[in-house]
Amino acid sequence: MAAPNARVRRALDTVLAEARPHTEGAVADYIPQLALADPDGLGVALVGVKGRTYEAGDSRREFTIQSVSKPFVYALALEARGVAELSAHVGVEPSGEAFNEASFDGGRPMNPMINAGAIVVASLIEGSTAEQKAQTILDGLGAFAGRTLAVDDAVFRSELATGDRNRELAGLAHGALGSSEDVATEAYFRQCAASVTAFDIAVMAATLANFGRNPLTGQQVVGPPVARWVMSVMASCGMYDGSGEWLARVGLPAKSGVAGGIVALDPGRFGIGTFAPRLDARGNSIRGLVMLESLSREYGLHLFSHENSLRRGPIRP
Ligand code: GLU
Repeated sequence: MAAPNARVRRALDTVLAEARPHTEGAVADYIPQLALADPDGLGVALVGVKGRTYEAGDSRREFTIQSVSKPFVYALALEARGVAELSAHVGVEPSGEAFNEASFDGGRPMNPMINAGAIVVASLIEGSTAEQKAQTILDGLGAFAGRTLAVDDAVFRSELATGDRNRELAGLAHGALGSSEDVATEAYFRQCAASVTAFDIAVMAATLANFGRNPLTGQQVVGPPVARWVMSVMASCGMYDGSGEWLARVGLPAKSGVAGGIVALDPGRFGIGTFAPRLDARGNSIRGLVMLESLSREYGLHLFSHENSLRRGPIRP
């Protein structure tokens, strides 16, 4: 493997320093256990599809994956059941509404990146009990991350105790569910409470960017067609109700979570994971947005940018 690129390491140090002064926003508190997070945690990691890794700040600090899990669990369900079957249960249109809105198209949730859609996806994962589904999910997320992951039990219990809105969404989605409402929501709560680091989610994103093959372990977790499909849905729906602006401004498929994680990726090149718990009004990590916007701008990462088109080269007839 070639020597790590000092320029990338410097870039991560630079964006970390740029993000640090941003102390606005607040940690999520609608799940009581999340309110206990250290608001000053700040980390970033970048993993290339050839397996080079770069990290800065609190890149190994554990936090719960929350909605960053959604594209990966969607990928696992797609791999097991195929696009046609999944599409009968959940759509792929941006909702333009908050993550916990009842955004439905007929009986189907609008997309798998909002809670209603993610609960339906969890219901379609193999296993007849919530524990079995959660284990399948945890094993799959672990394959993406390249290590065994565990559920943060305190966060899981906290979500279980306060998750009425998600139970309500499961009720509204009942026609699209592949299990009972209780099994679906409990599996989903365990999924959200999986404990990860910025480094883990960077490896997970790099696995998608590498068309389903984990660049550190070599395991083909999902096939290239599934990876392509999921990256597309991340691009259109991944950043809550800020998804359109995100794609125009930053131009990378991404997904954020309320514990402060964000993943972003450049297909065929790398995955990035950021961690910083203070959120904006839409639920996106403020320092995470600062870091990713800056990396995109400074290094021409926007998929539709001139720099990126030069890197990719013309199609020769
Ligand atoms: N477990 C959280 C919920 O369903 C996840 C939300 C998020 O990260 O967007 O409320």
